[in-house]
Amino acid sequence: MTDNTSIESSGIEHDHNQCIRDAISVAEQVCTTRGVQLTPIRHKILELIWNSHRAIKAYDLLDQIRPINDAAKPSTVYRALDFLLEQGLIHRVESLNAFVGCRSSGTQHDQLLLICTACHNVEERAAPDVFAALSEEMRNAAFNPQRKTIEIHGLCKRCSAA
Ligand SMILES: [Zn+2]
Ligand SMILES: [Zn+2]
Ligand SMILES: [Zn+2]
Repeated sequence: MTDNTSIESSGIEHDHNQCIRDAISVAEQVCTTRGVQLTPIRHKILELIWNSHRAIKAYDLLDQIRPINDAAKPSTVYRALDFLLEQGLIHRVESLNAFVGCRSSGTQHDQLLLICTACHNVEERAAPDVFAALSEEMRNAAFNPQRKTIEIHGLCKRCSAA
């Protein structure tokens, strides 16, 4: 499937081309600031992930990258994904084993992911109150969390209305 020109709405009408432009420009800045390379393959993978707000699996990325770069192997894709995860430019959706672009790229942060089971869009929310309450709970449990991700499956606003 190579629909890298298709534009998916995130459930709210918006200019998704702007999302892509913003994400790429933030990624370029982050990499320049950190002195790390956004190589062509990393750049392309990030662009493919930002093709929509849906979570995308590594093998779908491989399918989409092959017509452009026929030397691309699964390891190429996984290494690029590791880099993007490390730089905080994308998130892994654990429950789907798939990836989405991050809207507040370049920082490590807690995240609440709302995953639509109908259209597969993923909405990321900072949910500071939720994470403050969780931190309190972790302190009470004397548990030292490394990262906090909450994934909730359900229907997005648009799909509930349909
Ligand atoms: Zn968008
Ligand atoms: Zn994020
Ligand atoms: Zn939906």
